[in-house]
Amino acid sequence: MVTEYVLRKLEEILGAANVYASPAQVKAYECDGYVAFKSLPGAVVFPESTEDVSRILKLLSEERVPYVARGAGTGLTGGATPTRGDVVISLAKMDRLLSLDLDNHRAVVQPGFVNLELTKRVSGRSFYYAPDPSSQSVCTIGGNFAENAGGSHCLKYGVTTNHVTAATVVLPDGEIVELGSSFGDADGLDLLGLFVGSEGTLGIATEITVKILKKPQAVQTIMALFDRVEDASASVSGFIAEGIIPAACEMMDQLAMQAVDKSRYHVGYPSDVEAVLIVEVDGLEASVRALSQRVMDVCLKNGVREVRSAKSEEERALWWSSRKMAFPAIGRISPDYMVQDGVIPRSRLADVLKRIESISQTSGLRIANVFHAGDGNLHPLICYDSKKGETEIAQDVGRQILELCVDVGGSITGEHGVGIEKIVEMQYQFTQEELALQQAIRDQLDPKGLCNAGKLIPTPSRCMEMKGVAHPTVSSMEQILSASASVQTHIAR
Ligand SMILES: Cc1cc2nc3c(=O)[nH]c(=O)nc-3n(C[C@H](O)[C@H](O)[C@H](O)COP(=O)(O)OP(=O)(O)OC[C@H]3O[C@@H](n4cnc5c(N)ncnc54)[C@H](O)[C@@H]3O)c2cc1C
Repeated sequence: MVTEYVLRKLEEILGAANVYASPAQVKAYECDGYVAFKSLPGAVVFPESTEDVSRILKLLSEERVPYVARGAGTGLTGGATPTRGDVVISLAKMDRLLSLDLDNHRAVVQPGFVNLELTKRVSGRSFYYAPDPSSQSVCTIGGNFAENAGGSHCLKYGVTTNHVTAATVVLPDGEIVELGSSFGDADGLDLLGLFVGSEGTLGIATEITVKILKKPQAVQTIMALFDRVEDASASVSGFIAEGIIPAACEMMDQLAMQAVDKSRYHVGYPSDVEAVLIVEVDGLEASVRALSQRVMDVCLKNGVREVRSAKSEEERALWWSSRKMAFPAIGRISPDYMVQDGVIPRSRLADVLKRIESISQTSGLRIANVFHAGDGNLHPLICYDSKKGETEIAQDVGRQILELCVDVGGSITGEHGVGIEKIVEMQYQFTQEELALQQAIRDQLDPKGLCNAGKLIPTPSRCMEMKGVAHPTVSSMEQILSASASVQTHIAR
């Protein structure tokens, strides 16, 4: 609980202008991109340095006040949402590029630095930052670090963890530690690897060193339109089987194409094709020509209706905008939608998409599919109308899809994380022993259970009781939080 005393101390550390506490000020921080669960923070604070963050965490630890870090709030699983009157620690004012070392291909940024801004800063010298989540024009590198974010071009170049080499992190007791190494492998346990993707549950990153890459000499983008989803899926498996690793390989189904074509990123997809693939190959000029021909040949072998490469940079940019803006475009065809994020083996694409279609028919909710086909990372977009009371049906549909992903040998998240949204499904993917091990590591770093509590790991002792809960609604969240509270009491004793 944020008391008057805590507020006063926060103001002493940061100045009154950097502490929000009135309901009107904190309202905008009641959720992230997962809008099904909202809860007001006790306060929102805006540190400007690593030392500020350290002093805040020391205070909150002493006063036993829960807190959650926040980047741009584009997360889709409730990771940055406060759950019990937490202090939201916004990194919005820690948004500087601290250093650039082009000779060694490194950049050091503060966590609030926006992803796309990094590429913009170095592109004049033919460099770029590879991880490219579709939200890259607004999401922060701190949020990417915490979620181990992926993106369209991560098939060939790897996700965030493959591009972060070092970080300064403030631990829950306020201690400042340096993890990893700017160059080469750090000795000892891979603690940096532990922090990347830990969803802000182990501490707060305040400086992040990332790799920047030289732009490839040539890039070719290919669009392939298919009459049948099965043929598009077979082409994706075909590329990999032929030893072609495209820089990106994205798929959208008919409903997603219809939504995008209603938006300002209108491509004019034929209304009767079932799937489009957007495939990009890059490298040296000569090899790119040959590779793109091989990609087209695989598509032709699999019954593509039409396949061609982009004729200009403008056309390529439009194709990519249509893909990257596909999530928001769903708002054109549905009052509400929920984005899912599961992973399946590539070879099961066609089968799983059929089963998702059958879940859609049984539930009566439309599901559009937009995804990173190359790495089997599905993003079913479940369309619903909260005003018609369909929220819980949509949540149940999400649960069925995630369980399907696990059943075919995949996982419940590819890049959006677990947050609040998938905390129950963690029990479907992991055994109680595995969850207890994860919790034990978390307890070592955050023994008071204050750092982004109620997220990522369901409390093992309550796993069995939580089994029947379909998805965290406000009341089931209370159960989860009381479970976290019991851990704290246990530790406090
Ligand atoms: C339209 C749209 C498209 C998207 N496309 C993609 C995509 O292609 N790929 C993808 O991976 N994601 C995608 N996302 C999800 C989201 O953008 C990513 O998860 C992103 O990494 C979140 O960054 P953020 O700055 O908004 O972080 P937030 O949403 O503010 O926070 C995310 C999590 O990180 C923690 N956190 C934030 N900063 C820190 C820090 N400095 N230290 C420790 N923890 C911290 C928060 O507590 C929270 O748990 C998309 C979202 C939207 C809305």
